Amino acid sequence: MITLSTDVLVIGGGATGVGIAWDGALRGLEVILVDRKDLAEGTSGRFHGLLHSGGRYAVKDPRAAVECIAENRILRRVAADCVEDTGGLFVTTPFDDPEYADRFLQGCRECDVDCEEIEPAEALRSEPRINPGISRAFRVPDASIDVWKTVWAMSHGAQQRGARILTYHDVVAVHRDGDAVTGAHVRDTRTGDELDIEARITVNATGAWAGRVAELAGIEGVRVRPGRGIMVAMNHRLVNTVVNRCQLPTDGDIIVPIRTVAVVGTTDQGTDDPDDESVHQSEVDAMLDEGEKLAPGLRDARALRVWAGVRPLFEDAKADDSATRDITRAHTLLDHSQRDGVARFITITGGKLTTFRLMAQETVNAVCRQLGEERQCTTSSVPFPGSESGQTYRLGERLGRKEAALTDVQVICECELVPLSKLEEALERTGTTILDDIRRQLRLAMGPCQGGFCIYRATGVMHELDSLSAEQADSSLRDFLQERWKDLWPVLHGDQLRQARLDDWIFQGVLDVGHLPS
Ligand SMILES: Cc1cc2nc3c(=O)[nH]c(=O)nc-3n(C[C@H](O)[C@H](O)[C@H](O)COP(=O)(O)OP(=O)(O)OC[C@H]3O[C@@H](n4cnc5c(N)ncnc54)[C@H](O)[C@@H]3O)c2cc1C
Repeated sequence: MITLSTDVLVIGGGATGVGIAWDGALRGLEVILVDRKDLAEGTSGRFHGLLHSGGRYAVKDPRAAVECIAENRILRRVAADCVEDTGGLFVTTPFDDPEYADRFLQGCRECDVDCEEIEPAEALRSEPRINPGISRAFRVPDASIDVWKTVWAMSHGAQQRGARILTYHDVVAVHRDGDAVTGAHVRDTRTGDELDIEARITVNATGAWAGRVAELAGIEGVRVRPGRGIMVAMNHRLVNTVVNRCQLPTDGDIIVPIRTVAVVGTTDQGTDDPDDESVHQSEVDAMLDEGEKLAPGLRDARALRVWAGVRPLFEDAKADDSATRDITRAHTLLDHSQRDGVARFITITGGKLTTFRLMAQETVNAVCRQLGEERQCTTSSVPFPGSESGQTYRLGERLGRKEAALTDVQVICECELVPLSKLEEALERTGTTILDDIRRQLRLAMGPCQGGFCIYRATGVMHELDSLSAEQADSSLRDFLQERWKDLWPVLHGDQLRQARLDDWIFQGVLDVGHLPS
């Protein structure tokens, strides 16, 4: 069996884990990162898309608010290409307690969240879809962040500095030598191959799964309570600013414009299982009803898909009975040598996607302390690969550039303007045979047709490039369609139902995907 060795083994390839790999590599540490799936296939790839200003937590969770605004300012600089500066609005609708607005303003002041009150008429001029009955409105520096670009940029940067990123590698055992963790045993979920990784320090960055991985190391009581939330993507940007109801966070009270869509969210239900991605029709209906209070007419707009993610909410012993919305959104770092007498093992969990850089910084600081080495963190000043210009992402600009270039090239996905050359380049670079990996990397099939017109083309390209045999191509296509279906059925009505029927004709009627020749 192969044995690899490294300074730091990071378990978990969400934003936090990849942030740790990037930070560690920048500090000159040898890093291996493993994830049981693709990068950001856990909560990071199933979040709402909001780069928090902190406004949402300013009243109830000031520590989280302070961390969010500080990180928001840093990420706009170092991860500029991943951030769209949409700005944010908090508005008091006729359904909200009018007294909350003053507490909100005060909370923002105390947490250093930039907040300016504007006339409701001005808010309505900039966002005409929101409730015309709003009585107060506040501008905050909310933004949207593209998580796929974020993790791929950090992962490329880390790999350029020698880090090894092993996706589809599941940690099945954590090795102990007496009171110290010495690495892990991992299984390649695609080939079944197994390998050992010896590490000077092992970091558990598995978010909602952190309790389970700690148990593999023989450590009990790392209690992470998964808080499941659903989100619905609408097929165009109903709003161009992040709009929030000015009230304590609740279901369906925020709409985030991200790329070509707007995402309505979210719910928060405690669950025992971090793999619980279930979506119930009643939740979707209730959330859209709530969303209607913020943006009347939302229910009649076309919904594209719905998905669920689980928040990693770390509980201390006193918080047993609290609802998941009441658990702090700030993060927790556990140095197990101090907490459990187990050396060379660190857990980082909780927090927000917005605070992943800070979480990574504190984790690598703890790694360096355990190694007895002093290495400065530079992630607040070194730009991610692709963000060197410091220019935040602007939807219109990129579309203009793409339109100019795309007249001469073959387009595979019209909704997201993905050219053939990009698909071929991604297939060559990643070597993946999984269509869903390509979807996340290129946003292929993320638009209104949800793959109806592009996914069979992409499958054909993979087959032609010899990445897939005919048999593998067929099964890859079927897996993709099955996954899509899970996200589609709860929103099938109106135009999206017509689209689904058309897609069904293409795949079942014309291609007969159930019986393709092998
Ligand atoms: C509904 C919802 C909406 C949200 N919206 C926002 C938002 O708008 N803005 C914001 O800032 N935050 C938001 N969050 C919070 C944010 O998404 C999370 O805090 C963040 O993504 C957690 O990242 P992570 O890297 O710590 O965990 P994850 O992204 O979950 O990464 C953990 C990784 O560990 C891997 N793993 C688990 N077990 C193993 C194993 N045995 N071996 C190998 N790998 C393993 C998993 O595959 C996973 O990839 C939201 C969360 C939810 C649920």
